[in-house]
This record gives sequence, structure tokens and C-alpha cells, in this order.
Amino acid sequence: MKKIIIAMDGHSSCGKSTMAKALAKAIGYTYIDTGAMYRAVTLYAMRRGFIGKDGIDEEALRAEMPQIKITFGHENGQQYTILNGENVERQIRGMEVSGNVSPISAIGFVREAMVKLQREMGKTGAIIMDGRDIGTTVFPNAQLKIFVTASDEIRARRRFDELEMKGEHPVYEEVLKNVRERDYIDSHRAVSPLRKADDAIVLDNSDMTIEEQDKWLMEQYLKAAAD
Ligand code: C5P
Repeated sequence: MKKIIIAMDGHSSCGKSTMAKALAKAIGYTYIDTGAMYRAVTLYAMRRGFIGKDGIDEEALRAEMPQIKITFGHENGQQYTILNGENVERQIRGMEVSGNVSPISAIGFVREAMVKLQREMGKTGAIIMDGRDIGTTVFPNAQLKIFVTASDEIRARRRFDELEMKGEHPVYEEVLKNVRERDYIDSHRAVSPLRKADDAIVLDNSDMTIEEQDKWLMEQYLKAAAD
């Protein structure tokens, strides 16, 4: 089997990371969650007061970009996100970060810094990276590109369930609104908008079980990595 790069892009909350993590575990690949990286930058900007009612203080954020260090840690088989030495996994998944992350991700210098870091993390191959622009911008030569989607309502329901499992008390309509808003901003931004790479395989998993989608992804991997 060849060691390949697998790029998984798609809409918000469509189960990309669940699928990607399962495949990474099964085949011994490294999983990289690029959404977590944009979320960590957003948390940093929120804490520093760079996101206000009047918008984002881009100049202040630009000046501090070199100070933002994002890495991943592992515990009991789970991956967590580290922002400047602090485990911020719980904080970056909440609704507040979700509400601010797409405008932050649309900023050119933020994307530049993250893409550089992602290419560095993925340079050894044998990785599965999930995000919005992996197959189009970060690794346009990835040997396997998957573009995942599902209906808005199903995605919002999955995200709602996930938040509830984490002990939050989300309102379904707000979760649905956030999913739609993020998709809109992500698809319409000037820099690296969310779009399917021409050579990506589309998966609509609206009516699939987790087992079915894992099996489907494994088959795609086996075809792409065959010598
Ligand atoms: O994947 P997740 O939903 O956690 O991503 C959060 C947000 O980060 C997305 O809505 C998008 O705005 C941004 N993102 C991005 N490019 C990526 C990954 C995520 O712009 N490669």
C-alpha cells in the first residue's frame, strides 16, 4: 500500500471528522482537524477582545499571529487541541466560537498562517486532513479527495446531539442557523472558498449509518492506496 494524503472537505457538521478519525485509526494514519485550528485562532481573538460588535480588529490580530501556537495532544486515544500550551478542546467546540469562526477564517493572513502549518504537519504523508479547502488549496495533489455533504437539517441535528452529549443546552433553531451561516460565509469568501475540488468524490451521507459511511470510505482508501 502506498502512503497517501487523504483530503476530506465538505459542509459544516456533516460527519467528516467522525469518518476521518475512524479511518485514521483503522489504517494507522495521522488525523488532522483543520477546523480546530481555525477555532483556536478564533478563541484567541475572542479572549484578546479583537472581536467586537463593530467587527474584527484585523490589525491587532495580524500583529499577534506569530504568537499563536497551535498543536494537538493525545490522551486515551482522543485528540485535543492545544493553544499556547493550554488544552482548549472544550472551549473551541462551544456555540460562541462557532458563531465567530467563519468570519475569522475568511481573513487572508489567518488562512496563510494555517495553510503553512497544515502543509508542515502533512509533509510526511500517511495523513487524513479534514476541512474546507484541503483538496483545493492545502494539498491539491492529494491522492484521494472526498467531498462530504448532507441535508442542512440532518447536519444541524447531528451537531445538536453532539453539543447535548457534551453537556451544553443548545436550541435546535440556533444550531441550524449557525450551520447555514457558516456554510454561506465559507462558500462565498474571497480566499479559498469552500468548493468541491474537480477531482473529489462526493459523498452525501444524509441517509447513511456510521458503519455504512466508514465502509464506503475504507473502500475509497483501498482503491487509492493500492500499489
Ligand atoms: O470543521 P469545523 O466545522 O470545526 O470548522 C469550523 C470553521 O472553520 C468552518 O466553518 C470554517 O469557517 C473554518 N474552516 C476553514 N477552512 C478549513 C477548516 C475550517 O475555513 N480548512
